[in-house]
Parts: sequence; structure tokens; C-alpha cells
Amino acid sequence: MPPNPSHPRIATMKTSDAAVAIARIRDEVLARRRFLITSHARPDGDSIGSQLAMAYALRLLGKDVRVVNRDPAPPHYLMFPGVSQIEIADSVSGEFDALFVMECSDLKRTQVAGLERYFAVNIDHHAGNTMFGAINWFDVSAAACGEMVFDLIMSLGVGLTREIATHIYLTILTDTGSFHHSHITARTFDICRRTAEAGVDPAAMARNVFDSNSFGKLKLIGALLDRMELADNGRLAVLQLDDDMLQQAGCTHHDTEGLINLPLTAREIKAVVFFKLALPDEIRVSLRSKGSVDIRQVAQAFDGGGHQNAAGFTVHGPFQQLRQTIIDRVVAAIASTPGN
Ligand code: 5GP
Ligand code: MN
Repeated sequence: MPPNPSHPRIATMKTSDAAVAIARIRDEVLARRRFLITSHARPDGDSIGSQLAMAYALRLLGKDVRVVNRDPAPPHYLMFPGVSQIEIADSVSGEFDALFVMECSDLKRTQVAGLERYFAVNIDHHAGNTMFGAINWFDVSAAACGEMVFDLIMSLGVGLTREIATHIYLTILTDTGSFHHSHITARTFDICRRTAEAGVDPAAMARNVFDSNSFGKLKLIGALLDRMELADNGRLAVLQLDDDMLQQAGCTHHDTEGLINLPLTAREIKAVVFFKLALPDEIRVSLRSKGSVDIRQVAQAFDGGGHQNAAGFTVHGPFQQLRQTIIDRVVAAIASTPGN
């Protein structure tokens, strides 16, 4: 689709200079009125929190805002403000003065059609961002996209309301894997401190996000770990899930979030591969690692992406063959990490 002439593409800014990017985005926000906000399909805590923190801030400035996602939020996020009002659609065609795309290295990650025509502000913390926006602000050092959104909101001069603070904290709590992953810095805690001052209760947030399992999910955890395989002398855990296992536990795919982290709690495990066999020839693969084991490059080799310690991709084809190829790649990533 050709760009809408009423939203001409202006000089694309490729910058990781936060101050320059923030000033530029702030000017565009103040000059525009109707905003569309989106993020990647199968939203997670960082995508939901980044979008809604921005939505609440823009509304405080008197802007019209719609948040549109391809997939519904996982049920345990529904208790957070505004989550139930996110619109679910696979295409958008309304009139908007600007589009915010949170947490997407590529516009295709939204799986929402029709976005190319809008003036896009691309805010992301993944390496390998494709710079698809009219303004592109990426910062791979951010522990969550929400850290960047926090800085932007502060520059807009709106207060840190409880709703905004809740969503910013949600992004950090979830994207750091509950303060486990790399990229956590003093700045991360500084932002968390500010959100706590604004009324966020970290214990309640953790209970809502992590202690909201159904009994079905506990059964699923049992089945999954029971079938877990170890490779590479116990340094790699391989998890595999199919529809039968979900059905027997009375679960949906939403219940699979976070399960990949369980094997990482074993001291010897350096990395985890999680195969989700959803469709007959489609395999969704999630990867996690500890420390400097870089599994992002494995995901990239299969046209996916992510971060050093958390990445993913989707493959199509005969499973057994792909399974071994993927495992071999992760084993090689562990072997090539100094100290392993
Ligand atoms: P998850 O395993 O939780 O689905 O994803 C972990 C991380 O990898 C997230 O940061 C996510 O953005 C990234 N990721 C997952 N799947 C894909 C994919 O298909 N493409 C890209 N570019 N990144 C992905
Ligand atoms: Mn993120």
C-alpha cells in the first residue's frame, strides 16, 4: 500500500541517541491529535505495558488514542487497567495522525495489516531493528521497551499516574524475567523506585503476574517436565508441547507463557529449547539461555529474533529433522561461549 500523502514520510531518523529521539518524538506528539498504538502479535507484558502506559499518557494530553493488537492479552494481564479495552484486529484502516509501534524489530511482527500508510514512531529495544518508521528510536541497552516509554512520558510532562506507573513496572517485571535477565541496570531500579513512589505495590504485581496459574497449568507443568529431555551433557533442556498435552491438562496456549523458564532453575542448565507444535506443519520455537550464551543468533538463523538470553522464531516443515538441526545450533552456541 502506498504511503498516505497526508502523512508524508519525513527524514528517517536512525538514532540511538535517546535525548535527540525523545525531543523529536515529543514535538510530533504535541503537533498531532489522533494516535494508533500497536505492538507484536501474541503480546507479552512488555508490549502490553508499553502500549498502555503510552495510551494513558497521550490521553492525559487530550489526544484521541486507539490501541489495536492482533491477539488478545493473556488472561492474567486482564486485571491491569485498560487491558480489556485493547481492540483485537488483523487490519486497521481508520484516520490517524501517527502510529506508535512498540517492541517490534519489524512492522510485520504486528501481524496487523494496513499500518504502512501511517506516520510511524518505532520504539524498540531489540538488536536488528529494521528501521521501518518515520522516526526510529532503538536502545538495546534497555531492560524493557517500557524503560524507553518511561523516559518519553516524563519528557511529555504528564505526571506518573498510578495507571502509567503500573504499566511501566509491568514491562520491567516481565521482560527481565522477574529480575533475572541481563540488561538490568541501576537505571532499571531507578524507574522501579519511581513507579513504587507513584503507588505500585511490587508484591501485589508479582502475585498477579506470576501466582495466577490455574490448576490446569500446574498439571501441564508436570507433564512438560516429565517429558523434558536433556542434551549436551545436561547443559541443554528440550521441552516439547503438542495440542494433546494442552487438552489433557485443560489448558490453552496462553498457559504456556513462562514455562520455558522452569528448566533454567537447574544449576547445570545453560539453555532451553521449547518446541510448540501448534499446527501440523508449523513449529513455534522459544529459546532461553543464561549469562553470555547468545541464543539470539540461533533465532536469527531461522528468521526470528529477540535478545541474547530470550529469543524465538517459527519454522515450517518436517519436525524431527528441524528439531535436531535446532538443537545442534543451540549446543554449538553453548560450546562457543567462553567458560563453557
Ligand atoms: P518468546 O519465546 O517469549 O516468544 O520470545 C522471546 C523473545 O524473542 C522476545 O523478546 C520476542 O520479541 C523475541 N521473538 C520471539 N519470536 C520472534 C520472532 O518470530 N521474530 C523476532 N524477530 N523476534 C521474536
Ligand atoms: Mn521487550
